[in-house]
Amino acid sequence: MPDELYGNIYDIQKFSVHDGPGIRTDIFLKGCPLRCLWCHSPESQSFGPEVAWMDIRCIGFKYCTLCRDACGKGAISESAPKMSLAAGEELTYPVIDRARCDGCLKCVEACPSTALYNPLRRVTVEDCMRSIRQDKKYYEKSGGGVTISGGEPMSQFDFVLALAKACKLEGFSVALDTTGYAPTERFMEILPFVDLFLYDLKHMDSKRHEVLTGVPNELILKNAEAIAEAGGRFQIRFPIIPKLNDSPANLRATAEFCAGISKAVDVVQLLPYHKLGSTKYTRLGRKYRLVNVEAPSNEFMEEQLKLFQSLGLNAMIH
Ligand code: SF4
Ligand code: SF4
Repeated sequence: MPDELYGNIYDIQKFSVHDGPGIRTDIFLKGCPLRCLWCHSPESQSFGPEVAWMDIRCIGFKYCTLCRDACGKGAISESAPKMSLAAGEELTYPVIDRARCDGCLKCVEACPSTALYNPLRRVTVEDCMRSIRQDKKYYEKSGGGVTISGGEPMSQFDFVLALAKACKLEGFSVALDTTGYAPTERFMEILPFVDLFLYDLKHMDSKRHEVLTGVPNELILKNAEAIAEAGGRFQIRFPIIPKLNDSPANLRATAEFCAGISKAVDVVQLLPYHKLGSTKYTRLGRKYRLVNVEAPSNEFMEEQLKLFQSLGLNAMIH
């Protein structure tokens, strides 16, 4: 079918209970215009294919050099010996020189154990719907549905709009997990097909927002107000990252912004920083930059919860 619409995803996660109400199927789209320093899904960031390597699946150069043999760019070399707990012996492993790699994926094709993999999958709306339909009874029992997430799903707008429409046509509730960084007209166009926006706020000062995420925040705040004005519903998500966005001024400004659109806000989730996902950076040959940042204390989170609640918001620590 030459005109078929395709989307690039990196995962479909079933039985999710963290991305909206009830039991949900999460469709994760690949590619994001933001680069949040704390991002726990680095595989979601690039719009294109890339080579990732998972150490526990690799049998080591002693037994297999297929990836190195397949690479015509000389981008794969041998690591220093490391103890393999699974094999009970010291083994050497592939090391990818990302400066030499041109993304041809020949090593991925050659790898017999899927230790090397490309997170990108090209799918149609119907491919997604087949997965979504399988769990219909769980959505009905739990008040769940489908969450379209990313990356930034709005960056693949035609596909996401078609997917949201297909879900609504079959009676599934739709949540859109978004950074808010996309043209306002697109949010207005998709709004009739979205029951809930999972909407991130990261910093209320635009310059600081740009330092932390790579983009300013004016469009994000404007879109939140436009969606609220047009009748959209929100679950606001605010990751609290010590020393980066947890100043009293920013916490209060964020709470006040939420209070300003409170009629449209079902809940504000305060998300304490965590490091889960930092190992994914190693798989992609990247450095995780917040190694020295620790999670905020429970006491600190409780104080912030009270701040948000004091402004009349339904807030929770998630
Ligand atoms: S993607 Fe291609 S160039 Fe890059 S490491 Fe693999 S085989 Fe070599
Ligand atoms: S081809 Fe796969 S299993 Fe073999 S050494 Fe390379 S990454 Fe490991």
